[in-house]
Amino acid sequence: MADRRIIVVGAGITGLTTAHRLLTDLPDVDLVVLEAGASPGGLIRTSPFAGLPVDEAADSFLVRVPWALDLCTELGLDDELVAPHARTATVWLDGTHRPLPSPNVLGIPLDPNSVEEGLLPPEDLERLTGAGLPDAPLPDGDLTVGQVVRSCVGDAVFERLIDVLLGGVNAGRADDMSCGVMAPQLLAAARSPEGLLTALRSIHAQADPAAPVFNAHPSGMGHLVDTLAGRLGNRLRLRSRVTGLGRSDAGWLVGTTGGVELADAVVLAVPAFVAADLLTPVQAEAADHLARVPYASVSLAAFAYRHHDLEVPGDQSGFLVPRDAGLFMTACSYAGSKWAHLGTGDRVLLRVSAGRFDDLRHAEMDDGALERALADDLAETLGVEAPPDAVRVSRWPRSLPQFAPGHADRMAAIDDRLAAAAPGITVAGAFRHGVGIPACIRSGNEAAAAVGHTA
Ligand SMILES: Cc1cc2nc3c(=O)[nH]c(=O)nc-3n(C[C@H](O)[C@H](O)[C@H](O)COP(=O)(O)OP(=O)(O)OC[C@H]3O[C@@H](n4cnc5c(N)ncnc54)[C@H](O)[C@@H]3O)c2cc1C
Repeated sequence: MADRRIIVVGAGITGLTTAHRLLTDLPDVDLVVLEAGASPGGLIRTSPFAGLPVDEAADSFLVRVPWALDLCTELGLDDELVAPHARTATVWLDGTHRPLPSPNVLGIPLDPNSVEEGLLPPEDLERLTGAGLPDAPLPDGDLTVGQVVRSCVGDAVFERLIDVLLGGVNAGRADDMSCGVMAPQLLAAARSPEGLLTALRSIHAQADPAAPVFNAHPSGMGHLVDTLAGRLGNRLRLRSRVTGLGRSDAGWLVGTTGGVELADAVVLAVPAFVAADLLTPVQAEAADHLARVPYASVSLAAFAYRHHDLEVPGDQSGFLVPRDAGLFMTACSYAGSKWAHLGTGDRVLLRVSAGRFDDLRHAEMDDGALERALADDLAETLGVEAPPDAVRVSRWPRSLPQFAPGHADRMAAIDDRLAAAAPGITVAGAFRHGVGIPACIRSGNEAAAAVGHTA
């Protein structure tokens, strides 16, 4: 075993999970993790802002799916995790804050009585009293979220709630998104004979209403990265960009900025477009599928205001902004209301997002212009006229993969091509099962299992 060498390319949460799993399950394997950047974590980064550890991108993870929570438990971090203090959110609709109906599943109201007057037209509200059967039988195979939701509960619910929520999380259009990847529970419920709403209501009735949907770490998500990276020691090589991949009789040749490495197996835990470039000379068909995964670019700005200049609701986590609201921002999180550990400072902290797949205005602005545009939006939505005390802009170009219908089939085709023509090479990351940290951890686990067999 000790002579088997596995190289993991990329030390984002996916690559770090792959390495952790290999280290745990195959301790004798010679493992190396090559990371282009000066620090591990990729899209996960925590840094001090207004005296507190404020995440520059992801700040929490979903706990209704197992992978992230399981990993934290394995690492002994589960006792340290915290649930959001404030759990309700609003949507900026018609120039005002409207509460998201509760309960809801991805924005679909389960109780029509919880829908604030004026949020939905009467005929759409009436429809919510029913079972949520589709207008016509849903076609087989993967569908878009728009196809499923529009057919079962109408256009207004889709446009004023679901697209705002799902489109916001993924910076895309829910009309273009694979329901199989982005909301498999909706697809299954919509196909059930009792109808989407009836199926979602019975799932909801079995759930613990007090159970949190998200967890975070009070030191920021960077703590999970540091814990995983700490286990790797000098197996993690920073500032080591992989520039090429090739074959030799002795195994896979991995070209890096520091020389060529030899490996029995390689996990490419990098964005799909990077994996595509590296795989082109090795397996062009798999590379082509990867190159076609579109990515959205986003920016996230942290704002700190003085308490006497801005007051935000202590019982709300923030608000979402639909694409047609005429604003620049896409969402605002009241970080100090949402998380108790970020509410302790002497400033009101906000995390404000900008950018969608089809809105690149933020990327064309310098930091000063972006700060002003977002501050103008905050003045309109929160009434804050005073300048912020501090602002920090974080740029995330080509960070959020978009999942078109049939995505899972294309990923399976990549696996088949690699298994047949490039055994020992595996691709993993947010482009596989979804952008969320749990989905990345799942992909990392699967990649470790795959190369563990072949190496
Ligand atoms: C603004 C924002 C907010 C988010 N919020 C949340 C949230 O609250 N909750 C949640 O669950 N998810 C959230 N996400 C999504 C989640 O953070 C990401 O999907 C996830 O971190 C991606 O991890 P990854 O390891 O797959 O990819 P990455 O983090 O992109 O890691 C890939 C790594 O590969 C390295 N690399 C690239 N090319 C090479 C090369 N040639 N050689 C060597 N190394 C290379 C990169 O430097 C990087 O470190 C958010 C994302 C963004 C952008």
